Parts: sequence; structure tokens; C-alpha cells
Amino acid sequence: MASHPAGATEEEEGEDGNSDTAERTNEALRHCSREAKAGDRRDDSAVMLWPGVTKKMPLLYSEQTPSMGSHPLFLRVLGEKYNMAFKMVSTECRLVRQLLAAHGFHEVHANSGGFSLMWIGSHVNRYLLRNFKEHQKINHFPRSYEVTRKDRLCKNVQRMQRAKGKKYFDFIPESYLLPTEFQDFSSAFIKDKCPWIVKPVASSRGRGISIVTHPDQAPLDDPMVVSRYIQNPLLIDGFKFDVRLYVGVTSYDPLVVYLYEEGLARFATVKYDETCRQYHNQCMHLTNYSLNKKSDRYVRCEDPDIEDFGNKWSMSAMLRYLKSQGHDTTKLMARIEDLIIKTLISAELPIATACKMYMPYRSNCFEIYGFDILIDDTFKPWVLEVNLSPSLACDTPLDLRVKSGMAADMFNLAGFGLHDPITSQKFQQARNSIINQPSANSTRPKPRTQQMPSQRRRHVVRSNLSPDERRVLRIVREEHHRRGGFVRIFPTPFTWEQYSSFLEFKTSYNRMLHEELFPDRVKPSSAVLGRNGNNVGVRKDVLDRVEQYVKKKTTDLACDLTPTYGVCPPAPGLQSLPACITSEKPAFELVASPHETRDSSDQSVSYVYSIEKNGAQLSKLQARRAFAAYLQCVGSKLQQESVPDNQAEAQITLVLRFLRKAIVNLEQPFLLVEPSNDLSVTERRLSLAVILANFVAVYAKETEKLIFLKNIGNLQGRGDYTPSQGISESEFNKFLKNSSENQLEDILTTYTKVNKSTSIFIGSVNGRHPSHLPRGVVAPLDARGYSSYPQSKNRPSPKSAGVQVAAVYSNKAVGPSERPQSTSSNNKSAGSHARAARARSARAYNEPSPPRGDDSLSDALKRLALR
Ligand code: ADP
Repeated sequence: MASHPAGATEEEEGEDGNSDTAERTNEALRHCSREAKAGDRRDDSAVMLWPGVTKKMPLLYSEQTPSMGSHPLFLRVLGEKYNMAFKMVSTECRLVRQLLAAHGFHEVHANSGGFSLMWIGSHVNRYLLRNFKEHQKINHFPRSYEVTRKDRLCKNVQRMQRAKGKKYFDFIPESYLLPTEFQDFSSAFIKDKCPWIVKPVASSRGRGISIVTHPDQAPLDDPMVVSRYIQNPLLIDGFKFDVRLYVGVTSYDPLVVYLYEEGLARFATVKYDETCRQYHNQCMHLTNYSLNKKSDRYVRCEDPDIEDFGNKWSMSAMLRYLKSQGHDTTKLMARIEDLIIKTLISAELPIATACKMYMPYRSNCFEIYGFDILIDDTFKPWVLEVNLSPSLACDTPLDLRVKSGMAADMFNLAGFGLHDPITSQKFQQARNSIINQPSANSTRPKPRTQQMPSQRRRHVVRSNLSPDERRVLRIVREEHHRRGGFVRIFPTPFTWEQYSSFLEFKTSYNRMLHEELFPDRVKPSSAVLGRNGNNVGVRKDVLDRVEQYVKKKTTDLACDLTPTYGVCPPAPGLQSLPACITSEKPAFELVASPHETRDSSDQSVSYVYSIEKNGAQLSKLQARRAFAAYLQCVGSKLQQESVPDNQAEAQITLVLRFLRKAIVNLEQPFLLVEPSNDLSVTERRLSLAVILANFVAVYAKETEKLIFLKNIGNLQGRGDYTPSQGISESEFNKFLKNSSENQLEDILTTYTKVNKSTSIFIGSVNGRHPSHLPRGVVAPLDARGYSSYPQSKNRPSPKSAGVQVAAVYSNKAVGPSERPQSTSSNNKSAGSHARAARARSARAYNEPSPPRGDDSLSDALKRLALR
């Protein structure tokens, strides 16, 4: 996320030609806003953008998804300063509330007029919209129901089929409205007597749906849509699934459409059997989460690192799986983009007309639609329906990751103006004084690498554009720079040729936008590599975008420090934590190294140290993290320090004793292969260091899981994972970074005394060991004397643990059904794991050990090992 451009836009450069000033202004004001909370800030996290030519009103822009559990102060500063407010009407969305609160928004009464965002769960009242001010936003367009009501969608697409040709709009199943079109439905039925699916016109979550095999079975009392039932869905492991995609629209005239890079694949809980015709079995034929979650067979994945397990996968995991099976996912995504664009175009005329009539300012409305797509076994995607307010409920870590990332990016895309009249005047004065200051550097061009991305490519704006066209162009360009994980699918260099003849709301904006944004665009003949009926073929530009949809596993990306656009953000709630908790890096790189730049004079160290010594409490999570840091020190000593043989033996015994006790309480099975006595003392100490490193890796991961559960608990309002408050996170992180081994030990000792127990350090994450999971196992010696964890060959049998444990072992997909438990990691040789572990350990320990008063391992470890 750090790669999002956070400064001046292309338009500033293009139009006022004073980019240097604009950039200085932006920089100074960003600095100014950060200065306000210098003690608790994180650079480039929540900043002001001053877009536009006149730069009247800055925008609030966040470069990261805020933590769901805690709200770091640095994110809230701007929102609070500008009195940003929101109101919720006819809905209750905890995720949105938390996100906005994290950015310093406060909630106002539903009747209040003083708000920046109105988050509404139903359709927009157009008369209400008329009173909106320029900086106010609402999450729906007027007449959005033209696309989100099943009957309206059906009618609009059918109208386009008649007007533009059925082959171009053949992406919804043949449908009729009941009771009015019953005769037509009966005639269609007689032709091939296949099953049809009947749905209420304005319902959701599978309510009121039935599958009929004769027109007589169709209910005629309420308005219904009856659609041809797709009998040949694509199956994964024999299960039917559909895909939820999040589509952002920021304008209907011109049409501007974004597809979020990540979605969700939702599986049925009963294997699909086309032959047995059990149409009453909803858990076989309907893929709705709300229906299937009630089934005993529903498998929920609680592991934040796994995206392809159980009955809900990430879309990218689904695409990777299909790709691994040899399917052409690029073509699939090209078709999906195509049908999204055409669906919206089919409702463009009524919605754009309503916007013109009722929307006072062009940026008042934005929308996130939830598209439900079914893919058939010929790889043809079908639109089943479009949801007006897609669910933002987060029942699993995957939900939380995808939906919170999407919602945060959506707010950035919408762009909230920092409006408070008093403060904006103050900042405007600050801005003016900066602009008027003569700058020594102002005449010198910046080196290319320091320029904002927008300045690298100069856009020539046609002089014959009207002021309004210029404004539209500027808004769309600026928006594109804030898109985060959203991928703009309309306009692109090829969409004018492909779709302009379908557009019905005739203004100049769509053409102008295509011409200005893509002056060198390729002509259709060279753009389209293949075309077959309504198959759009594989276009070159789609290839680029599909990279983003079929990306690497999000968890793999956590280690990748290269900023990349569109990378799904790391799991929210983990971002305020040190790298030890958030990445897959080896344990001893994870926790802040005890030896690197430790500065015990750091105020935060003495602060935490003194309050802890005086009996104040670390939270349980903080205690575990401090303990992991402390174990790191121990491991470092094992590797670095040279001690007499008898002391070394004592150390080895102590650490082994500790490990034997501690692994039993890990949730994840841990194979402890004790170093052979045939090895020299030094070799045994080294191998023990590797084992300890592995232990800390698993331990840190389980702490991470606990934090995740805590955050989900907070999000769901349960708070059942919330331990004692602890010391402020920022202070604690600084302490963790800078404290010495002695200080860590002292703090852990105090904590143990106060709590009269050491179990929190080596207890299971929940304080109780889950009975369904196998415990750690002490294994016989390895010939090489190295722990070979995770050496799956020798792992305790996961039979009793069921599929969930198999998934923990595996990085490969475990389908909605129980999959074979062989894994890619299983195939790795034990030797390669040992080598990798050694290399990690060597990297981790290459810092000199700090001097230490006593010569044996510390008392804290002793107490834990001997208790
Ligand atoms: P709802 O708004 O109630 O969720 P949907 O239109 O999304 O209604 O349909 C619910 C589920 O029914 C879908 O998720 C899909 O699994 C199944 N379904 C809907 N329409 C069809 C169809 N034409 N063919 C096959 N399955 C369908």
C-alpha cells in the first residue's frame, strides 16, 4: 500500500504548470498534519491530498487499512481535526463504523445535516439527495435498483439484447417475470423441459428461492423472476460455487468502473449431483453463505493464512486453483470484466438520467455493488444478480481481510474532503504562506526519481475542453491514483472501441475521457487477439490486469518489501504489530532483534520498564511477545557465546527441558528432534538454537492468531478475546525494539510474580489446549543432529485432527470436501528444511551478544523449564 501516490496529481501539473509549488505545499501540509501528533505517528499513513487546480479542499487519504481492534492515533488525527462525521441510515455496518472511527470520523444522528458520509442500507431518496453539499457523499446512486433488483436487471439486459444484439448481452440466464409473463415462461418450458429457478424480485440471501421442473409449480402470488437453471456449473472437488465480486462505480456519466482485485468464492455444502435431481436440496444447488452456514457440513476456516480451505475461498485462490488445473483464467477474467461492464451499461441510461436530475454535485454518489457470478463448465460466466449493499460482515479471517481491505480502498476511492470551515481556513493560510515563500529549489527541476509518479508522464490537455470536461478529467485521474486494490476496468485503452456503441446516455464525457486518458490507444483490430460471438477474447490489457487477480497468496506477499500496486493488504489488525507477528519471516528476524540498535536510554524503555516494575500490567499478548523477544536472546546466546563445557551442557539441558514442556502447549503440532549426543557441545548448541528458532516461529504465529481472534471478537462485538488493556501499543513496540535481555527478563519476572503463573508464556493460545488437535511430540534423534521440523513424514498422524489440521500442514488447497493430506511442504526433504532453518538461524544470530552478568541461561527460563 505504500506505493500509492500520495502527492500532487497529473492534473495539477498539466494545468497550472506549478507542480513544484503544489508539491511543496502538499509536503508541508502533510508534515504539518503529522507534526500535530509527533509522538504517535507513522509516516505516510493518513495524509492530506490537495487535488485540483484551486486546491480549495484537501482530501483525507489513508495509505493503509487501519487495525480493526485498536485505532492508532496517527490515523485519527486528521479526521478529528476536521470534525469529520458520518451517519448510518437503515443499516448497521460494524466494519464501516470501525473504519470510519479509525480515521477520526464521529457518528451523528440520522436526522443531522452535518455529515461527510451518509451510509445507507436502502435506495437513495432522490429528494434528500438534492440537498447534498459538495463535500457530502452517499454510498448509492439514485435509481441503482435498475441494476440491483432482479426484475429490473432482467428487463434492462433484455432491452439491450433487443437493441444491440443478443449475442453481446447473453450473460444472464433466460428469464421471465411472474405472474405477468407466465405464458412466455410456459412456452419456453415446453421447448426443453429443463428445471427453472424462481426467485423473489427484491430479496437476497437465498430467501424464497425454489427450483421448479414444471410451470405449475411456480408460485404466482408475489412478483417473482423465473430463470433457466444452469445445470452444468463448474465444480471444484465436486461442489458448486459462485463468486462474489466487488465492483466500484464512481460515476455514470462518464461511466467509471473499478473491480476490486479480490473476491470470495462460496461453495455449496453438498456435492453436486446433476443426475439425482434433488432440487429441493438447497445446500447442493444454492451457494448462499447464509443458507450453507447452517449446515453441519459447513467448514469454516479460522486460519488467517489459508485462503483455499473449507466453504469459502478467496477469489485469487480459486483462480490459482483453476490455473493449476490448466484452465485459462485470463480469458475467464476478461469475460467477467466484460459482463460487469455490460451489466452496468444496461442500466446506464436510467441511472445517469437520475443523477443529472437529482445529484447536485458530480462526486456526491459512489457505489460498491456485489456481483454474484456463476461459472459453467464451459467456462462461461453468468451474472446471477447484483447486490445493492453487499454484506460486509466478517465471520472469518478471510472475510475480514478481503472486506476491510476493500472497504478502506473504497473510501479512498470515493475521496472525503476535509471540510471543517475553521480548520480548512487555517490550513489554507498555511498553504498560501508556503506558496508565497521564495524557495531556493523552486527553479531547479527535481531529480527524476524524486518526482511524483504523476509528474513523470505529462498529459497534454486539449485546449478545447470545456471547464466541466477538464474537471471531470481531473477527478478521474486523481481517483485513479487513489484506487488502491481497485482495478479500473472502464475506461481502459480498449473500452471505447469495444463498448461505445452500447452507451446510451449521450454526452461528450465518455469519448472525451477515452481520448484524453488514452491518446495513443490501439485500434480494435490489434487490440483484440481473438473474438468469437460474445467472447471478448484475450486482450493484451486484460493480461496485465489478470496478473493482479491471480496474484500470489496474500500471506506470501507479506514478506515482499517491494511496494506493489493492488496487493491485497496484509491482514488488518496485524499492521500495528511488529514484523514478528505479521510476516512469515523466520522467527528470529521476526521479533525485534535484542541486539540491534538497542538504546536503553530510550524513554519508552524506561517508561515501560518503570511502570511494569511498579506492578502495572502487560496484557497477555504483550507478555507473549516479550517472551518471544526474550527467547530470541536465549537463542542468540546459544549460537554466539562461548562458555565452558559444563555450563554449556547445563544450558542445553535447560533449553531442552523448556522446549519439551512448551511444545506440548502449542496448537500446531511441533516435532522436537533432540540433538544427538554424538555431536560436539558446540554443534548441539547450534542445533538447539535452530530448534528454538523454529519454536519461536510457531509461537509467534500462534500469538498472531490470538491477536486476530481478538480483533474479530472486537469486530463482532464479543470482546471475548480481549485480555487486560496492557501498556499502550506504541510504547510497548518501542520498548520491544529497544529493551535489553535483562530488561525483558525483569519484566517477565514481574509479570509472572503478579500473575502467580507462567502459563501464559507457554500455555496454549487460548489458555487451554484444544482437544481436537494433536499435541507436540518429542521424536527420536535425527542422524544429523538437527531438528527437521516441519518434517511432515514424521509428524503425528493428523487423522484425529481432521481436515483443519491437514490444512495447517498444507499450503495447498484443501477443498470444500476433505482433500488428500499430501502437501507441497510435505514433499520437501527434511534435509532442505534443516538447511533452511540453519540459514535462518545464522541470519538471525549474526549480531554480537550483549554482555551479561551471569554466565548461565537466565532465571526466567529456568523457572519455566523447572516448574
Ligand atoms: P439471492 O439474492 O437470494 O442470493 P441469487 O440470485 O443470488 O439470489 O441466487 C441464490 C443462489 O442460487 C446463487 O448463489 C446460486 O447458487 C443459485 N442460482 C441462482 N440462479 C441460478 C441459476 N440460474 N442457475 C443455477 N443456480 C442459480
